[in-house]
Amino acid sequence: MIKTNTFNIISLGCAKNTVDSDSMAQLLETSGYQYSEDATKAQVLIVNTCGFIAPARQESIQTLTKLAAQKRRGQLLIAAGCLTQRYGEQIALEVKGLDGILGTRRWMDIVQVVQQLRHGNAPQPLYHLPSNAAIGIDTPLVSRSAVQGASAYIKIADGCRRPCAFCSIPLIKGPPVSRPIAAIVEDARRLAARGVKEIILIAQDTTDYGFDLGLKDGLSQLLEVLSDELPQIPWIRILYAYPGYVTDRLIDLIASRPQILPYLDIPLQHAHPDTLKRMQRPANVEWVYRTIEKMRQRIPNLALRTTFIVGYPGETEQEFQTLLDFIKEIRFDRVGAFQFSFEPGTASEPLGDPIPPQIKQERWERLMSLQQSISLQINQSWIGKTLPVLVEGEAEIEDQNGNPLNQQISIGRSYRDAPEIDGLVIIEGKAPQGEIIPVKISGALPYDLQATLLHP
Ligand code: SF4
Repeated sequence: MIKTNTFNIISLGCAKNTVDSDSMAQLLETSGYQYSEDATKAQVLIVNTCGFIAPARQESIQTLTKLAAQKRRGQLLIAAGCLTQRYGEQIALEVKGLDGILGTRRWMDIVQVVQQLRHGNAPQPLYHLPSNAAIGIDTPLVSRSAVQGASAYIKIADGCRRPCAFCSIPLIKGPPVSRPIAAIVEDARRLAARGVKEIILIAQDTTDYGFDLGLKDGLSQLLEVLSDELPQIPWIRILYAYPGYVTDRLIDLIASRPQILPYLDIPLQHAHPDTLKRMQRPANVEWVYRTIEKMRQRIPNLALRTTFIVGYPGETEQEFQTLLDFIKEIRFDRVGAFQFSFEPGTASEPLGDPIPPQIKQERWERLMSLQQSISLQINQSWIGKTLPVLVEGEAEIEDQNGNPLNQQISIGRSYRDAPEIDGLVIIEGKAPQGEIIPVKISGALPYDLQATLLHP
């Protein structure tokens, strides 16, 4: 039976979408709607889609198509997010049974769209895609964060002005819009009051935070205010830094303020200057070497994460080898790698997609196997050391027949592990969930660490 004034949200794609989904839920709850865990009973079904690359678009379409097929009388199905922002009407042609289409730039109009569908004689499907809408970032009384256990993402800005040739984000989100420092601090204060231990700052490009507000090195300014005003938050993590914009001030802040984790995610995408130029990415690889060296000198135990694209149009075996040599030399703690996805409408479109899929796959496998060996060696260097870990869950060990072995393990993350994208710390024994505790590293796996409790 459909429950009136209930909704269910499926959030696809990145953590920035998760925050938008959370914000839409807050707006619906403030307007008297209740969240229904069970999508089959919810009156309003919302899918916050991802439109970044082909595999993500397929997943969004499949999710919408499945829900449309299962839709019951009295249910409304709304497609929101990046896919609808980018392809709008086309989505309604591909997915029969959609009631509403809302773009990512106007997530804060979700209640209006639902009301129009429920009470107005809205055309079906209802398109809510105001043209040239700037990316909406703040709405009164809505926290732009998403809590996951004792961690929370805070969106500090949205949109991007970088010219990366392969990327559709600027097409989808438009130019960057930063949130005022005071609004971000207020979100962090509320989260700290809820016992959140880790704040993760996200945007398309966190190092460009505040540019549109006229702030110079806005990210450093934000971090100074956050750590000055909220010393009670143990961990502050930075994701999505842009090469060329990691300043000395930012490095000094990470080095001098223990709250700001010695962890930096800086997607580089490639290491051969010619490939980087074709990607319209910063091609000054010397700057990367110098900055990483400077960071490692200033920040002991710095954990570095990056992302690379293999198979970009024109990538020769020699260019790819340069990338492998670079990875071997820098020895990143964490590496994510993607195969080039042809993106119509982006600056790379004229380059086509000439690298055969099997070559892309082979290069992706070579890169990941190299990184796996590096990651294991770095993990092995932690054996015997003590590491603070944020405990996030527990599990019972079973034998190969699924019988419980009466051995408890707890799962957590160290400062070296961002949620959902990096490794875990597997702790022998029962540890207090939601707490940051010191553990002794007893073993190393390619991406995860094993540990024992210091005070069992
Ligand atoms: S920095 Fe480049 S890759 Fe990242 S969102 Fe902006 S345009 Fe896309």
